[in-house]
Amino acid sequence: MTERLDVLRLGYRLGRDPRITTHLALVARALGADGFLLAGDEDKKMFENLHSVSERFGGRLETEHVSGLGHLRRHVEAGGVAVHLTMYGEPFRQAIPKIRRDKNVLIVVGGAKVPGDVYKLCQYNVAVGNQPHSEVAALALFMDAWFGEAGSQRQFEDARLVIEGVNGGKVVHDKLEE
Ligand code: SAM
Repeated sequence: MTERLDVLRLGYRLGRDPRITTHLALVARALGADGFLLAGDEDKKMFENLHSVSERFGGRLETEHVSGLGHLRRHVEAGGVAVHLTMYGEPFRQAIPKIRRDKNVLIVVGGAKVPGDVYKLCQYNVAVGNQPHSEVAALALFMDAWFGEAGSQRQFEDARLVIEGVNGGKVVHDKLEE
């Protein structure tokens, strides 16, 4: 079992990236990450929005602003596993069975330009298809393969709002009203 899984987004730009990066953090939370780490510009408002999602829908996604390469270097030096999602990497379904699950795992995704050191520091450079697409899609597919069905089926602790999945309409249980 993975000790802890965090997602690190490199090179965040306040002007251009908030929407897609919020989506990235929401995917990280929904599929089972413990923390979402942001390198680049600081964005307290985005972190507040993410905490508000956890207050309503449960769980605890920790958020932190970090220095990208410094954090990655310390994580690896402390014995952690770092997996960089990149279109230049090894196919993810081939790589996943080789990745140790008894260590803390850091999944690194890039922004506009990824420094060369990231490829060297990460023990695994992993591709979700060798075509350029999106960090959100790459993270979702990787985490689905990493956790299997348990990822998207998880129940969150302390959820106030619990959605019952149905084919028609919306069924939402509000614990404050029950
Ligand atoms: N040209 C950029 C670069 O230097 O890699 C691509 C930026 S892409 C819009 C943003 C991020 O999405 C990448 O850094 C990578 O983490 C992720 N990504 C995009 N395509 C991917 C793929 N095929 N496999 C894995 N990750 C991918």
